[in-house]
Amino acid sequence: MQNNFLVSVVIPVFNEEKNILPLGKLLLSALKDHPYEIIFVDDGSTDNTASEVKKIAKKNTSVKLVSFYRNFGHQMALSAGYQIAQGDCVISLDADLQDPPDVISSMIKKWQNGALVVYAKRKEREVDGAFKKTTARFFYKLMNFLSDTPIPEDVGDYRLMDRKVVDDLNHLPEQSLFLRGLVAWGGYPSDFVYFERQKRHAGDTHYTFSKMLNFALEGITSFSIKPLRLATYLGFITAVIGFLGIIYAVLGKIFLPAYWVTGWAAIFVGIMFLGGVQLITIGIIGEYIAKIYKEVQKRPRYLIKEKVNV
Ligand code: UDP
Ligand code: MG
Repeated sequence: MQNNFLVSVVIPVFNEEKNILPLGKLLLSALKDHPYEIIFVDDGSTDNTASEVKKIAKKNTSVKLVSFYRNFGHQMALSAGYQIAQGDCVISLDADLQDPPDVISSMIKKWQNGALVVYAKRKEREVDGAFKKTTARFFYKLMNFLSDTPIPEDVGDYRLMDRKVVDDLNHLPEQSLFLRGLVAWGGYPSDFVYFERQKRHAGDTHYTFSKMLNFALEGITSFSIKPLRLATYLGFITAVIGFLGIIYAVLGKIFLPAYWVTGWAAIFVGIMFLGGVQLITIGIIGEYIAKIYKEVQKRPRYLIKEKVNV
């Protein structure tokens, strides 16, 4: 293949003012061999992120900015970037320099060799804390147990996708996007490059524990109805246990009336157990109803406030 294909780079940014210029510098040197466009999607930053991007965009029209009115979330920002990207291949990466741009050239090589998706895979998670590491591992294990679409482990949103894949994603009608899952769901021929995850350049992570939990729930409910089935099984199991309990109580009352003392503990345990099981199953059903609710509203995924060089 010739070298005159267009490479798009999509970067969701949320309050990353100190990272824009250093990242821009690294990207420009990583992309110097090809025509490129760099699309920053400002996910409702409240600091100077947008004006830092505009500084670069003023001098270089290949650097583009799309801003949202408010924070719509990382996945929505990515999807906005994918809608705008024109490239023959589209690379997404984090703004905080945790995803080093120097593997881009090997990603492009793997794409030229026929992979439609090239994932950048973390060699190890040394720089992440023990908590993040364990929760991430647990999430992928759970996700891959529950879902019919296995998601590659130790892979974030740093990946290259062929035009075909991006077009497919752009035409998905669903409102809530769990992109990591959707890319795997497509079953495209894929390949990996390996990199060492760096420390965050400046600022703090935006993935708080509650955001991580929401992200995990989003991923699970997007790709699996197994929790609903588990709720059914749980119901069956407790019904059987309850039935055995009834037989035990009735037989005791009939045949051993003299010894039979109605126990407070038995009633208490029964109520607590059943209450717990019922709340869990209602919660699981609720998660899926919430999902349906959001889908039928058919609201736009995000609203664009401003575009520069687009
Ligand atoms: N991000 C975003 N919107 C959000 C949260 C994060 O666009 O609501 C961006 C953020 O600016 C960064 C990327 O998504 O470029 C990854 O976020 P972060 O580094 O906070 O996550 P972590 O690396 O800790 O998982
Ligand atoms: Mg990060």
